[in-house]
Amino acid sequence: MVLKSRNAQRFAIVGGHVLTKTGFTRADILVEKDMIAGIGNCKGVKDKINAASCLVVPGLTNMHAHMGETIFRGTFEFSNLQEYIDKTEKTNLKMHDKSKALREISSSETIIEFLRSGITTVWAGRCDQACEVAGIRSFSGYMLMQSEKLQKYVNNFEVEFREFTTKIGATVLSNPFLFLHSLTYATKEIIGIAKMVIKEKHFPLMIHVAETIEEEKMIRKKTGRTSVRLLDENGLITGSTILVHCCNVTDSDIDIIKKRNATVVLCPTSNIRLKNNIPPFDKILKKGINVCVGTDGLATTTSKNIIDECLFLKDEFKTIKNFDWMTLITTNPAKALKINTGTLCKGYAADISVFEMKSQNNIQKIKNIDVMSILSMLKVKDVICAGNPLILDGKMTTMDEKKVESEFASLNRVIKDLWI
Ligand SMILES: [Zn+2]
Repeated sequence: MVLKSRNAQRFAIVGGHVLTKTGFTRADILVEKDMIAGIGNCKGVKDKINAASCLVVPGLTNMHAHMGETIFRGTFEFSNLQEYIDKTEKTNLKMHDKSKALREISSSETIIEFLRSGITTVWAGRCDQACEVAGIRSFSGYMLMQSEKLQKYVNNFEVEFREFTTKIGATVLSNPFLFLHSLTYATKEIIGIAKMVIKEKHFPLMIHVAETIEEEKMIRKKTGRTSVRLLDENGLITGSTILVHCCNVTDSDIDIIKKRNATVVLCPTSNIRLKNNIPPFDKILKKGINVCVGTDGLATTTSKNIIDECLFLKDEFKTIKNFDWMTLITTNPAKALKINTGTLCKGYAADISVFEMKSQNNIQKIKNIDVMSILSMLKVKDVICAGNPLILDGKMTTMDEKKVESEFASLNRVIKDLWI
């Protein structure tokens, strides 16, 4: 019997090839509530998702995204980060009366695209409400950035922060983090708030670091330190810090990141699109630093999805051998916060993506280093997050895909017309 209900308490994913640490194994997965209750034979279970001819992998994590940016895709030309941010700020001001719709439609479209690529966890600023409605797991950032659009989060910190934490507290699938945009868009006041939140609330901190060479030169000129050193001297690099981009980090920055046990998130195709350097992934990996991957905003990336981001790195760093590329979007994100996602084992979260295979030839021989390349050619059939099926046999259960796509297309057109 095919599973129908979104909130089935107990069901099995049967007949699939389940990804383990050593490769694919033919097995069923038993899901109870929001957890994996067992892996093996689930013949007696009534509700089933048929995964015959499918690869069953852990739900993927996108460690860095901007939900509100997708709406800008293809609307204006930009040649670097500064120009992109300036133009989005201008657009947001011009469309002030539509800001709620802009954010909601952009977020919904982004979630659909993420789910369609097998993502079950996303890290992004202010994404908790949209992700909760869609049933996707999220880490939602309180934004600290010197920007017209986000000024209230600094000026009216106490009230806004209380509202933010209350809203997240009422969700089932969202956790908070502090999203300090970057040193370029930080004031003394913003750094002060960040230090206080980290110390008192123990929130994970995410920050764009050393993304552009211009930013890095400016900070060194002003302070005599690299961005990483400056953050470290302010106590902002800890085991719960997530440093995004790191395109222009030095060897001693890498030493600091390792020493503090921080996590690095790479978004390589965004770096290429914005004409920034490719981060020294090989050096960071060699040092034993926990590395993850994100798409960044979908308006600045050139890849189709998170898998392509990993394949880009694989192609760029050909000297890296025998590396399990799936760890970048499964176990490493889980390691960053010691959470039980990213692994298909009893006792782990039931976050599972099922990819449809056309042929079953040689599945047992697929090596873990090749899994990513194979997944990139397959279609997502089912997505389960926290035990809830969000895509079943290719159909979304929580979102009206056609409606979102049409609303997205018309709003995207309005923005495009603003820039003609
Ligand atoms: Zn970003």
